[in-house]
Amino acid sequence: MAIVVLRIGHRPVRDMRITTHVGMTARALGADGMLLAADDPKIKESIDKVVRRWGGDFFVKIGVDWKKEIKQWKENGGMVVHLTMYGLNLPDAIGEIANRDLLIIVGAEKVPASLYNLADLNVAVGNQPHSEVAALALVLDHLQDGEELHGDFTGGERKIVPTRSGKRVKQVKPVASCG
Ligand code: SAM
Repeated sequence: MAIVVLRIGHRPVRDMRITTHVGMTARALGADGMLLAADDPKIKESIDKVVRRWGGDFFVKIGVDWKKEIKQWKENGGMVVHLTMYGLNLPDAIGEIANRDLLIIVGAEKVPASLYNLADLNVAVGNQPHSEVAALALVLDHLQDGEELHGDFTGGERKIVPTRSGKRVKQVKPVASCG
């Protein structure tokens, strides 16, 4: 089951922090990658740095054409889910979206009206306005029944040794010289 997040409506500078959080949350909670419908290399750089340092093989692709990505995802047999407070509430949609190859779309500012029809399903995480980061986190968790929290992130420079108090980090690989 592949899960890729498509972030649309990103405004460079203004949405830098939230879009970075969308990417980091997607990575930490089991998605395979993030497509960004904006040309903002800083977002890719900062998430790639997280991947180098902490492992896994999460990818970020910037400057994508969101309509083309949706079309291609559908042609390949995947399902396109748009997260919006106006959609079907998650408990009523989970059966339909579980175990599918999912392209999960999150907006920033108001999303284009056409997206509501282009998506196979509009899904709400509660029918109230909140945050794309929170909505994405809950969807990823419900899709994977909490198993994503045991994710195996190999290949990074560092690994956290969970401790009851304090901080322990193992250096498992030499730090890359650039970046
Ligand atoms: N005002 C914008 C609009 O009318 O489309 C929404 C802004 S909201 C902060 C940004 C994104 O968060 C939305 O595009 C949607 O993807 C996500 N979002 C916010 N509340 C949500 C909810 N209850 N369920 C699912 N997604 C939500």
